[in-house]
Amino acid sequence: MSIQIAIDGPAGAGKSTVAKRVATRLAIPYIDTGAMYRSVTWSALQNNISLYDEQALVALVDNCDIQFIPGEPEQKVVLNGQEITTAIRTSDIGALVSTVATHALVREKLVQRQQQMVNTTLGVVMDGRDIGTHVLPLADVKFFLTASLHMRAKRRFDELVLKGYSGLYEDVVCFVAKRDELDETREASPLKKADDAVLLDTTALAIDEVVEMIIALCKY
Ligand code: C5P
Repeated sequence: MSIQIAIDGPAGAGKSTVAKRVATRLAIPYIDTGAMYRSVTWSALQNNISLYDEQALVALVDNCDIQFIPGEPEQKVVLNGQEITTAIRTSDIGALVSTVATHALVREKLVQRQQQMVNTTLGVVMDGRDIGTHVLPLADVKFFLTASLHMRAKRRFDELVLKGYSGLYEDVVCFVAKRDELDETREASPLKKADDAVLLDTTALAIDEVVEMIIALCKY
């Protein structure tokens, strides 16, 4: 199926789980653009590059070969030949990635990469913060997933606990709220619903219900 599906929304709205399942159901690739910003953040930390040094980050992006390798339960993220799938999911990277994502020139480079990746596939499900507004403005179908701050924080908390987190739920609420603020207020392509995106509030919905709604809306 050669359909382009854009899924945007804030942290914890369920985007990546939903996007993955929709891609599997439609047998088309899934591109997780958040993983690309996370990979650059991880690489900057490894190379002692300041997250405020835009030029150095741009040079870093030029030297980052980011590949998604299909796999179960999740696709693998490989940076310059090194698998970093779990390394980019830590709460440290989560706390720093939005700083990297504020740089307009870094975004420009990553958006170009994302558009090139789509040109090499027949169809795609791409999720992120600016897919419907900037990366794929002509996508066939666009969705903006959201949920209450508390539901999003609870989902993130549950995920972190599974990975061994022993901190407070309240800290995760603050953390998610801070990331929302950074993503919504940055100058370069802030998180925003595209005018032609379908708004889906997932607060009271199970993942499978959201997946079914999206699949139904993609059958045009
Ligand atoms: O989706 P995920 O939580 O992995 O994204 C991590 C961060 O990367 C977001 O909070 C945002 O700052 C940034 N991002 C972005 N644009 C995208 C995807 C992610 O700015 N398209």
